[in-house]
Amino acid sequence: MRVGDRADCLALDAADELGALREEFDLPQRPVFLNGNSLGPPPRATWHRLSKVVREQWRADMNSAWWKHGWLDLPRTVGDRVGRLVGAAPGQTVVGESTSVNLFKLLCAALELNPGRRTVLTDAGNFPSDLYIADGVVRHVRPDVRVRRVEAHALAGALDEDTAVVVLSHVDYRTGELLPMREINRRAHAAGSLVLWDLAHSAGVVPVGLDADGTDLAVGCGYKYLNGGPGAPGYLYVAARLLPRVEQPVTGWLGHAEPFAFEAGYRPADGVGRLLTGCPPLLSLVALEEGVRLAGNVDTRLVRAKSLALTGLFAELAERAGAQVVSPRAPQRRGGHVSVRHPDAERIAKGLAGEGFMAEVRVPDLIRVGLSPLSVRYVDVWDAAAALGRVLTA
Ligand SMILES: *Cc1c(COP(=O)(O)O)cnc(C)c1O
Repeated sequence: MRVGDRADCLALDAADELGALREEFDLPQRPVFLNGNSLGPPPRATWHRLSKVVREQWRADMNSAWWKHGWLDLPRTVGDRVGRLVGAAPGQTVVGESTSVNLFKLLCAALELNPGRRTVLTDAGNFPSDLYIADGVVRHVRPDVRVRRVEAHALAGALDEDTAVVVLSHVDYRTGELLPMREINRRAHAAGSLVLWDLAHSAGVVPVGLDADGTDLAVGCGYKYLNGGPGAPGYLYVAARLLPRVEQPVTGWLGHAEPFAFEAGYRPADGVGRLLTGCPPLLSLVALEEGVRLAGNVDTRLVRAKSLALTGLFAELAERAGAQVVSPRAPQRRGGHVSVRHPDAERIAKGLAGEGFMAEVRVPDLIRVGLSPLSVRYVDVWDAAAALGRVLTA
C-alpha cells in the first residue's frame, strides 16, 4: 500500500497483525521512543516475573532457590530461547556477560581455534567497544597478534593466509547497513578464517540464521530489540562443530565441568556452558527471559516485513521533508533503524524531543531512528517524520 496521508497509517495500524503486541509493553503516551534499538521498552510481564522471583523464590527459598527454581540452568535455557530467535539449534548459545566481555572471550577463543594465524580483521567503522576489545585482546593476551581495521567495502580483499578471524557487526550501529552473513562466512572460510559476528542491532528485528549460514561464533545484546531491560546480560553462540575444541580465557567455576565438586584444577564443562564464568545476574536474566519470550512468540517473517515497511516509510517521508537519509534503501541491505545526516544533529534531535519523539544522536552528524516493530506504529512514523520536517525548517 502506498502511504499518502496520516489516515493511511492509521489504516495500516488497524490491519497490523503485530499491532496487539504493543499492549504487552508498558509504554507512556508521550514521548514516543524511537530508540528501542538502544533500550527496548519494559514488557508488562517483566514486572510480574521480577516480583514473583523476589517474593516467592528468593524470599521463600533463599540459597536453595538456585536449584529449586532452576536458576542455575537459566544461562543455558534462556540461551536456547535466544538461540531459537537467531536460528541456532539448542546447546550452542548461553547468556553470560555484557556483549563486550562475551566478545573478549570469543575473540580469544577464535585465535586459539585458528593457531598459526595472527591477524584479526575488522571493519574500521565497527562499534567502538568492539574495536577497543580487539585492541585489548592484543595488548593483554595475544601481543603476537595484530588488529587490521579496513573499510567495510575492502574487507573481502583484505582476507589473506594470516587472517585468523574476522570481527563484524551484522547491522552497522550508525547507518543500519545489513551485511550478508552467509556470503561473508563463505568467503572467510574459503580463506581459512573464522568469523565472529556481533548481532546487537540485528537479533530480534532482522532474520538471523546462524546454523543455516554456517556461522562460527557470535555475540549479541540483551537490552535492545530483545527488551531484556537496562543492563540485561548479553549472549554468545559457538557452532556445535567448534564446541569440543573451544577454550575461553576467563575460566571461572561456573564454566567448570563440576562446579560443586570444588576441584583445585579447572576442567571445562562439556558444551557451550564452558563459556560461562561466574554467578549469573539472576534478576536481569529473568527479565531478559521475559523479553525474549515476547520476541520469540512472534513470526519473525512478520517482524521483518513490518520492520522494512516502517523503515522504508520513514526514509521516504524524511527525504520528502528534506532530510538526507544515509541508510541503505535496498531492503536486503537494511537493518531495523534509519539514520539521517545533518551537520547540526544535536539541535535536530533536541527539536524532535521537544515535539515528543526521542531519537538519538551519533556524533558527529547522525540522527538515528530505531523502529522496533513490536511497539512502534505506522502513525508514529508518520508523526515523527512530520515533526522532523518542522524541525528541519525551523
Ligand atoms: C549496544 C552494542 C553493544 C553492547 O555492548 P555491552 O558490552 O553489552 O554494553 C555491543 N556491540 C554493538 C554493536 C552494540 O550496538
